[in-house]
Amino acid sequence: MPTAADSDVIEGGMSEEKIERNVLREVDKLFPGFSDTLLFSRVYRWEHGAVQLPPGALAGQAAARETIEKEFRDIFFAGDGFNVAGLEVSHNTGIRAAEKILEAVSRRG
Ligand SMILES: Cc1cc2nc3c(=O)[nH]c(=O)nc-3n(C[C@H](O)[C@H](O)[C@H](O)COP(=O)(O)OP(=O)(O)OC[C@H]3O[C@@H](n4cnc5c(N)ncnc54)[C@H](O)[C@@H]3O)c2cc1C
Repeated sequence: MPTAADSDVIEGGMSEEKIERNVLREVDKLFPGFSDTLLFSRVYRWEHGAVQLPPGALAGQAAARETIEKEFRDIFFAGDGFNVAGLEVSHNTGIRAAEKILEAVSRRG
């Protein structure tokens, strides 16, 4: 009977060994030598996957934000729609949109 060590793919997805190798390879690019100091690892399998941005998405979002700001002077967006998802950006863009609305209202008198 094959074991996880025999194959990189097991029933239900990638083997834990393969996941660990892939993750450590990525982390080592950011923090060289990280995998040499790893004490332990644990793989959690969630029923639903997380959304991954495709290459170029961040630059596209930045361009969209810039265009909206330049072309639509009376529309103010808040939220994570044109940013990487996260509560911090949602909060900050909400405050920024509110400030811009107040500025626009006070300019008009
Ligand atoms: C499973 C999960 C885990 C997450 N974990 C984290 C985390 O640990 N840390 C973190 O920072 N971020 C996390 N996030 C991301 C974070 O939740 C979002 O980035 C943030 O909530 C986005 O805020 P928002 O106000 O832009 O949008 P939302 O919170 O999605 O709010 C949009 C609102 O608009 C309403 N709406 C939509 N369409 C209409 C319409 N046509 N008319 C009226 N109302 C409408 C929706 O019902 C909703 O209430 C997580 C997200 C998910 C899904």
